[in-house]
Amino acid sequence: MKEIDLRSDTVTRPTKEMLQAIMTAKVGDDVYKEDPTVNELEKKLADMFGMDEALFFPTGSMANQAAIKLHTQPGEQLICDKWAHVYNYEGGGVSFNSGVSCKLVDGDRGMITAEQVEDNINPPDFYHSPLTSLVCLENTTNKGGGACYDLEEIKKIREVCNKHGLGLHLDGARLFNALVKKGEDPRDYGKIFDTISVCLSKGLGTPMGSVLIGNKKLMKNAIRVRKVLGGGMRQIGFMAAAGVFALDHHVDRLEKDNERAAEIGKVLTDQFYISKVEPVETNIVIFYMKDQEKEEEFLTELARQNIRISNMGHGKLRIVTHLDYTEEMHQRFLDTLEKMEL
Ligand SMILES: *Cc1c(COP(=O)(O)O)cnc(C)c1O
Repeated sequence: MKEIDLRSDTVTRPTKEMLQAIMTAKVGDDVYKEDPTVNELEKKLADMFGMDEALFFPTGSMANQAAIKLHTQPGEQLICDKWAHVYNYEGGGVSFNSGVSCKLVDGDRGMITAEQVEDNINPPDFYHSPLTSLVCLENTTNKGGGACYDLEEIKKIREVCNKHGLGLHLDGARLFNALVKKGEDPRDYGKIFDTISVCLSKGLGTPMGSVLIGNKKLMKNAIRVRKVLGGGMRQIGFMAAAGVFALDHHVDRLEKDNERAAEIGKVLTDQFYISKVEPVETNIVIFYMKDQEKEEEFLTELARQNIRISNMGHGKLRIVTHLDYTEEMHQRFLDTLEKMEL
């Protein structure tokens, strides 16, 4: 029985066609900025978002951390949701790398409002408090179950940032899932944010890599920050080729991942052993068991069927659909959920 791995959309293997693109990539030393494929990928993303520049990073965490460093000075504070990846899952990098603290906002499924941003800005003249200098948003939200922002709310947040002279960064690890879902144009995001990070290694299915996109003034120093963080890479065009391939071939198909996640959410809602399924907007499904003591039994039964999902603790279970999750696997998984005896 084939394994069905739904723990994350990072578990995918490159397709045959992607491997072909990797194997035939033209490469050079990217530390000298002489890797043509990295340069192509960076230009492609900058153009796609209508921004000046882009820079390839080994990971999304490093791209976010570099962005935070570019926007802040030690002692300052950024505003983000309490579930933000930059705060929860980047090893404390905000304080380690930038000497910055986080003002956590109690948002809705990882999303915050313009009003909450405004309420959480420290008065700049009140020198007892850290100076607020940056707002970090996440779209889609990871811990919030793939929820998507309303673009109108983001525009309002931009206005608040303008009024108070704050930078605005988007952690867009799964931004393409949101763009496909909402039929939005990346240029709308390029117009609003100062910096945007996107992951190539999640739904887009490459082995590694993220890109930070932004305007000239801020990005001028990005390559130095990347160097300091140890992220200067040499013939990395092999991986950039996977990124170029993914942007050409794996964006539209995210609709399939979003659809299958919605179907899983719907089937889960109907099962007697499930208490709650969070709204499914993109490719993440977060749900809770009715009887938490049955959780172990549920996971064991899935494992017996060679199916893996994530246990996020506190009764929270997570499923993420992706490129390697086929229609055949999907039908078998739905069938397993419907026939589950606990
Ligand atoms: C995955 C992810 C990242 C980056 O993670 P890396 O593993 O460092 O590439 C950043 N933000 C969010 C919301 C993510 O889901």
